[in-house]
Amino acid sequence: MAIRTGKQYIEGLRDTREVWYDGKRVDDVTAFPELEAAIGAVARLYDLQHDPAHREVLVADSPELGEPVGRAFEIPRTPEHLALKREAYMTCARSNCGMVGRSPDFLNVMLAALAAKRSFFAEGGEARADAVVGYYEHVARNDLFLTHALLDPQLDKGLLRHQQSDPGICLRVTGETSEGIVLNGIKRIATAAPYADEILVWPFPPTFQPGEEDYANVFAIPMATPGLKTVCRPSFANYGAARDYPLSSRFDEMDATVVFEDVLVPWERVFVYKDIKLLNRMYRESRMRELTAHQTNARLEVKLGFVYALINRLAEAQGLAGRPEIMEMLGEAAVRLEVVRSTTRSAEQQAEVDAENGVIYPDLFALQAGRALGPIYYPELINMVRRMGGGALVQLPVSMDEFDSPVGPAIEQALRGADVSGQRKTQLLKLAWDLCGSEFGARHELYEKNYAGERSALMAGIQREYGRKQACLDYLDEFLEGL
Ligand SMILES: Cc1cc2nc3c(=O)[nH]c(=O)nc-3n(C[C@H](O)[C@H](O)[C@H](O)COP(=O)(O)OP(=O)(O)OC[C@H]3O[C@@H](n4cnc5c(N)ncnc54)[C@H](O)[C@@H]3O)c2cc1C
Repeated sequence: MAIRTGKQYIEGLRDTREVWYDGKRVDDVTAFPELEAAIGAVARLYDLQHDPAHREVLVADSPELGEPVGRAFEIPRTPEHLALKREAYMTCARSNCGMVGRSPDFLNVMLAALAAKRSFFAEGGEARADAVVGYYEHVARNDLFLTHALLDPQLDKGLLRHQQSDPGICLRVTGETSEGIVLNGIKRIATAAPYADEILVWPFPPTFQPGEEDYANVFAIPMATPGLKTVCRPSFANYGAARDYPLSSRFDEMDATVVFEDVLVPWERVFVYKDIKLLNRMYRESRMRELTAHQTNARLEVKLGFVYALINRLAEAQGLAGRPEIMEMLGEAAVRLEVVRSTTRSAEQQAEVDAENGVIYPDLFALQAGRALGPIYYPELINMVRRMGGGALVQLPVSMDEFDSPVGPAIEQALRGADVSGQRKTQLLKLAWDLCGSEFGARHELYEKNYAGERSALMAGIQREYGRKQACLDYLDEFLEGL
C-alpha cells in the first residue's frame, strides 16, 4: 500500500490514540469538529498523489524500496530529483495556499535524509543504524504521516535538564528492558500530533551537556502507543464557514504538547540512545537541514506568492494599484517573494554529491538565507495586508450571507470598491482578516517566526558554519596586502 488515499489516511486515524481537548478525551479524532479542517487538508494531499495531473511529480520510483513512494521519500541522487522534489513540495503547498506548514512531505524528507546517512547512526552501533533505515522503509512503504517534537518545556533556561527543580519534567529514559526503553516526561510543540500516524522525537537544540544523557534519545513510535497523551491547544478553525474564514475554516493545523507516561519504545525504533555527543552532531551531520529547508522554502514561496497576490488585489480594489507609493510597497513584496524563490533554485544549482553516500544535497547556505529571511519577510507582507485593508478590515459583515438579507444592498454600497462589487471586495477583505487579524493569522506569524528554531540561534549558526567566509577573508587580506 505504498501510495495512500485520503480515505485510507483517515481510516488509519481511528485507533486507540489518547488525544485531549479542553480537559476531555477525544473519542475519534476523525469525527471531532475542531480537527476536521486539519485532517481534511492532509487527506487532500494524499488524494492529490492519485490525481493524474500530479501523480508524475508527486510519486517517485524508489530503487531502495523497489516500489513507488511519495516524492518526498525519494533519496535524491541527481539534479532532476531535486527539481522534482521542489515541484512536488510546491504542488502540495498550492493545495493549501502554503498554509499547512507541517504537511507530510516535511517529515517524509527529513526521514529520507536520516536514512541516507546510515553511517552517522552506525557510530551509535549497527543496531541503531538498522533501526533508522528500517523505520524509513516502514514509513515510506506505508505512506505514513509523521509529527515531530523537539523541545522541552520552557523551564529555567539557566539550568540543565537534570538540574531543574523537577528533573522528571523533560522527556527522559526511566527504564530499559529487553524489549526497549521506557520514557517519561513532556515534549512540545508537536504540530499535527492529534492526527498524525506516528511521532518522531529528537531533542533540540544540539547543546546537550554531560549529565543530560538520559534526555538524549531519538526515536519514533505510533501515536496510538499506550501511555502517550496528546494535549491540544484551542482550535482556531472556524469550521463550516469557508466564505467567512477562507483559510482558518480549511487549513488550521493543531499544535500539541505530548506527555509520556511509562511509554515503551521498542529497540527497533530507537535511533540514538543516551548519547549526547552523537545527538549534538545529528542536526548538522545527518544533513537533514539541507533536505528539509529545501521543502520549507518551497512551501514559503507558495505562501508569500499567495499573500503578494492578495495585496495586489486589495490595492486594485481601492483604486490605488498605480500610485507610486503603493507600487513601491508592491515592489518590496515582489522582491521578498523573489529572494525566497531564488533560494531553492540557487541551492539546486550549487548542489553537490556527498561522496560518502552518493546523495545530492542542495546548497545549505542558499537555503539558510530563506530560513533566516522568512521570519522577517512574512510578517512584513502581513503588515502590507493590514495597510491595504485599512479600516475596512473591521467593517465586515458577520457573514457573506448578509448580502442576501434586508441590509444586503446597504452592505454592498458600504463595501464597494474601484471596479469591484461590494461582495467581491468583502470576500477579499475576509481573506485578509483571516491572514492578519484572526487567531489563525496570529498563529501563522508566530509559526513563520519560529518554525526553523529560535532565529538568533539560527543566525549565529550560519555565521559559525558559513562556508564561503574564508574566501571573503582571503580576498580582503589579499587586497590589504596589496596596498
Ligand atoms: C506555530 C508553531 C508550530 C510549531 N511546530 C513545531 C513542531 O511541529 N515540532 C516542534 O518540535 N516544534 C515546533 N514548534 C516549536 C518551535 O521550533 C519553537 O517555538 C522555536 O524553536 C522557539 O523555541 P521556544 O518556543 O522554546 O522559544 P524560546 O527559545 O524559549 O524563545 C523565547 C524567547 O526567549 C529568548 N531566548 C531563548 N533562549 C535564550 C538564550 N539562551 N539567551 C537569550 N535569550 C533567549 C528567545 O530569543 C525568545 O525571545 C512550533 C512553534 C510554533 C510557534
